[in-house]
Amino acid sequence: MMVLTKKMIEIRSILQKVGQSSSLTLPSIVVIGSQSSGKSSVLEAIVGHEFLPKGSNMVTRRPIELTLVNTPASGDEYGEFPDLGLGRISDFSSIQRTLTELNMAVSDVDCVSDDPIHLTIYSPNVPDLSLIDLPGYIQVVGQNQPLQLKQKISELCDKYIQPPNVILAISAADVDLANSTALRASRRVDPRGERTIGVITKMDLVDPARGAAILNDKQYPLRLGYVGVVSKAPLSQGLFKMGSTNLMSAIAKHENSFFSSHPLDYGPDAGVNVGTTTLRKKLMNVLEQTMSSSLQSTSDAIRQELEEATYEFKVQYNDRPLSAESYLAESLDAFKHSFKQFTEEFGRPQMRELLKNELDQKVLDLLAVRYWNKPVTDLSLAQVEPDHISDLPKAEASSLYWHRQLDASASALTKLGVGRLATTVVASSLQDHVNRLLNNSNFATHPFARQAILEAASTILSEKFYSTSDQVENCIKPFKFEIDIEEREWAQGRQHVGDVLKKELKDCEAALGGLESSVGGRRKLKEVMNFVDKARKGDLVVEGDGQSGAGGFSAALLAKGREAVFLRDRADIIKMRLLAIKSKQCASVRNKYYCPEVFLDSAASKLASTAVLFINVELLSEFYYKFPRELDLRLGRHLTEDEVERFAKEDPKIRRHLEVIRRKELLELVLEKMDSLKQLEGRERERLTDE
Ligand code: GDP
Repeated sequence: MMVLTKKMIEIRSILQKVGQSSSLTLPSIVVIGSQSSGKSSVLEAIVGHEFLPKGSNMVTRRPIELTLVNTPASGDEYGEFPDLGLGRISDFSSIQRTLTELNMAVSDVDCVSDDPIHLTIYSPNVPDLSLIDLPGYIQVVGQNQPLQLKQKISELCDKYIQPPNVILAISAADVDLANSTALRASRRVDPRGERTIGVITKMDLVDPARGAAILNDKQYPLRLGYVGVVSKAPLSQGLFKMGSTNLMSAIAKHENSFFSSHPLDYGPDAGVNVGTTTLRKKLMNVLEQTMSSSLQSTSDAIRQELEEATYEFKVQYNDRPLSAESYLAESLDAFKHSFKQFTEEFGRPQMRELLKNELDQKVLDLLAVRYWNKPVTDLSLAQVEPDHISDLPKAEASSLYWHRQLDASASALTKLGVGRLATTVVASSLQDHVNRLLNNSNFATHPFARQAILEAASTILSEKFYSTSDQVENCIKPFKFEIDIEEREWAQGRQHVGDVLKKELKDCEAALGGLESSVGGRRKLKEVMNFVDKARKGDLVVEGDGQSGAGGFSAALLAKGREAVFLRDRADIIKMRLLAIKSKQCASVRNKYYCPEVFLDSAASKLASTAVLFINVELLSEFYYKFPRELDLRLGRHLTEDEVERFAKEDPKIRRHLEVIRRKELLELVLEKMDSLKQLEGRERERLTDE
């Protein structure tokens, strides 16, 4: 029973997944021969199909590692290129085309490459075998071929004909064996002829007596012997393609009629081995024996590899188990956990603060437009410095003018689109927080998951955006008609707007400081500011074309001067307004026309609180509920195994960790298989000695 080879071939394909190291090479049959010695014909006769590249221009440029898998139960015959992922190919001429393309992809300059092509053929008609086809030895270097080509081919072949591989040395009967490159190469690495099978092709081209003499060769004795074949089927020359049984039986028939017509030389009593069928059987036996004798050394090598992988797993990864799925699940859990924590820290007070800050800016803008220009000086001075107002026009704070100003400001505030503003502020803050959580999570290094998570957030938020901002807008509608402020609210507003103004003052002063240093000092800035002041009062005629500036200052310097004057004036006004707010006049809501800052601040607070109340229900709670579910959906069960794998391997650390584990697991599996094979082998041997 030839189970060993089959099992070992299975093991080989597992080892290939591990990224087979050279110590793990299981024995194969390596086919060598000169060009045109009939090498391809022999291989095709064994497989029963024409599938190898044909042509005059050195068509085999890469080793073809051919695995034959016997599938007794199935009638299907097909090939697979495991590295290419093309799936099953039942049309052997398509396999031939693919092989030709793969070989021709090696540039003419390189001519040969030692990167093997893996091809597996499944058929009920092939034996379990592992064969390696190599580029044929050449005698003369062709016109367009590099001079060192001969050498390159020979080196490539030498790499493969090392033990424990079996060498299938092909020589043509019509060429003197002494000139056989294949036999000479084999002698170099296997001088006692212990692992070489000699194949003599084209037996039909020499007379039987000479043919028989070659098969009995004593000059190059081989322990595994010589087999003579005629592997050219008379009808297979491209007239039509035959199925495997047809090609096989055609060759067998042809060989039979040839060899049996010379019974004296090739008959059963002649003591020679002839025919492709005989060769096939011999290959199976020899490979099985070689596999059997290399069982121990191979399993030792695997054990050593396993020990190394185990050590690496222990030292580098602390024996920590990991799979792509568990990594994803853990990462997702951790992320959801951090999100949960965030939901506990981010609620109504935080949203209110965000929104209030935004509205504070709007209030400052409104104040600047409506109050902090010249006339407001009247209002301020009327309150704070009554002695200095003699030269300014007077305007009573209780006049209709100031009533209108306040009503217009309040109206502008309530109609600035609070619904949309509030929703945008909260939604983009949520996006920012998700982004921050992402950066602190495992997902930081996973573009694919990052994308999925950010999309999950933005999908939910944009789904709720319009309805939320409409709701909020509706709810603040009453404030558009009347804003009723209570004394308590007024007091809070007075306190708060004081802080806002102080901060604004600081910012103005800092900006002034920045301008000073950017023009080269306080004095320089003062000079320019003086010039701008005078020009503004009309004492100076500012000439200049806008480019060169005026007063000897460059245009850029003048622009800075104007900015500085603006900031200084703003700071002056803010200082005045701060005094006004602190004054008794502003202590009560009754005097609201004197203190627009306090009034608008209190109004903004009311807007913020009301908006947040509805955003909380419409947007935040919805988001907190849906987001973790959306994550499960996008990163949970809906991913395929491949996607999970791809995800996990995006992180190079995880990738290495997973690879070590996988390698270890596969090696353990292989070793287990090897051990049971050894037991089987042992029992088989006992049975044979018993018999
Ligand atoms: P390769 O270059 O070593 O792969 O050789 P091929 O298998 O392509 O064969 C070279 C030539 O020899 C082809 O024209 C084959 O048809 C022919 N050939 C192969 N085997 C035999 C054989 O047993 N008898 C005869 N007469 N010709 C053969």
